[in-house]
Amino acid sequence: MEKRVRVRFAPSPTGPLHIGGVRTALYNYLFAKKHGGDFILRIEDTDQERFVPGAEEYIINALKWCGIEPNEGVGFGDGTYAPYKQSERKSMYGQYADQLIKAGFAYYAFDTNEELDEIRERMKASKGTFSYNAITRQNLKNSLVLPEEETKRRIDANENYVIRIKLPRNEEVRFQDAIRGWVQVNTAQMDDKVLYKSDGMPTYHLANIVDDYTMKITHVIRGEEWLPSAPLHVLLYRYLGWESSMPEFAHLPLLLRPDGNGKLSKRDGDRLGFPVFPLNGELLDTKTQTLEKFSGYREAGYYPDAFINMLALLGWHSAGNQELFTLDELVKEFSLERVSKSGAKFDPEKTKWFNQQYLRKYSDEQLADAMMPILAGKNINTDKKFTTEFCRLIKEKAHFINEFYDLGSYFFSAPTTYDAKVIEKKWNDASKPLYTKLNEKFVASSDWTNTGIQKAFEDAQAELGKMDMQLLRVLVSGVAGGPQLFDMMALLGKEECTKRISSALNTLK
Ligand code: GLU
Repeated sequence: MEKRVRVRFAPSPTGPLHIGGVRTALYNYLFAKKHGGDFILRIEDTDQERFVPGAEEYIINALKWCGIEPNEGVGFGDGTYAPYKQSERKSMYGQYADQLIKAGFAYYAFDTNEELDEIRERMKASKGTFSYNAITRQNLKNSLVLPEEETKRRIDANENYVIRIKLPRNEEVRFQDAIRGWVQVNTAQMDDKVLYKSDGMPTYHLANIVDDYTMKITHVIRGEEWLPSAPLHVLLYRYLGWESSMPEFAHLPLLLRPDGNGKLSKRDGDRLGFPVFPLNGELLDTKTQTLEKFSGYREAGYYPDAFINMLALLGWHSAGNQELFTLDELVKEFSLERVSKSGAKFDPEKTKWFNQQYLRKYSDEQLADAMMPILAGKNINTDKKFTTEFCRLIKEKAHFINEFYDLGSYFFSAPTTYDAKVIEKKWNDASKPLYTKLNEKFVASSDWTNTGIQKAFEDAQAELGKMDMQLLRVLVSGVAGGPQLFDMMALLGKEECTKRISSALNTLK
């Protein structure tokens, strides 16, 4: 029988969830749903120094907003493999560190941070880099070198220690990555990473492997930044005797800056004017120890399904050239084979385009339902019918519903200024009498529909001479562009339009 697919999203609560993290969660979600499996949220909070209060809630809220909720994990499901937060699993890890020591795959090390820093400095001075490994460990303070009684004495005396993995000096580690194919690294390039500390806290590496094993994870789908850790993880599975249940690995490509130069960061977003987080928020920055505000896609006016659709295509493509997918369609189409190896460039314009496509899926009535509270917030009272027609006219140019008002504020209040460029170019001495007469025709018109207004305009031109539609638009709305002129005037109504035209004629010299 095939094993039930179980994947996990395992963020560390060290800050807001970056859109790269959301994409990792999304691919895990899609993979789990596609195979009828489980999508688990595990919080990896072993690094207490980088812990940020509120980050966990932020992650959960972000997944909920995106509509990619885990069915198991912190805050979700029935807790079969609970707890799902590593700090709450603390007591589980020591036994595995001990097992590794007993089997000769790990050792105690007593070097202090200061001592190691000093060596690092010395190595740097001679243009080398320090690595705690099969060679250097022979001259350092650890249980491989110290007499057995000495090690025992130090541990009994509660001296601080760490447990390090004991890597062979020169051995090829090979594993298959679903996206990258065979990956091969020699242990000579790796170091004896810390697995466990004497305060009883495991490091990421040990906790991650123990949790994946005990939670029966079948596939590890995570960001490329974890690829260098994967050989170490493979060895941990081997040394713990779990190799036959080792999950399959899939390391996702990085999200790159729009120019392709380097990883997409908050700074790029701030500089180029787009969010790199799903939701607005304010969290502690552990480096500066200050609260830092950041902006999100939700508050920028994105629909979650548009946001998710956009993210899905950053690093994955479908068999055809289709770009618009519902979440269900993504589940059907998704496969790790079509995730690319190379980094995915973030494209802010394309991101807006996705939202526009989703905006266009809504009916004018639905858009009006969303628009009414926005208008009410500006103390504008209009009826649904007017708002529906407003939405129909204004939506073409918009990417977001929160742009509608700015694109057509003149629908709700008469202009007080008139587009200077158009006036300079098109307004002359003949204009005032001409447009005064036109306005008289409008006042007399009995059919204030698009075609009725057009007819009145054409009749006036036949009688009085050529008139400029853009100038007329500016007299009515104040601005040079917008929806079809007669549609706009029909919606504003005869009384409002003629009032506006005469007030413009009074204002303009
Ligand atoms: N805690 C790691 C992170 O913050 C998880 C890496 C993994 O998925 O193994 O991304």
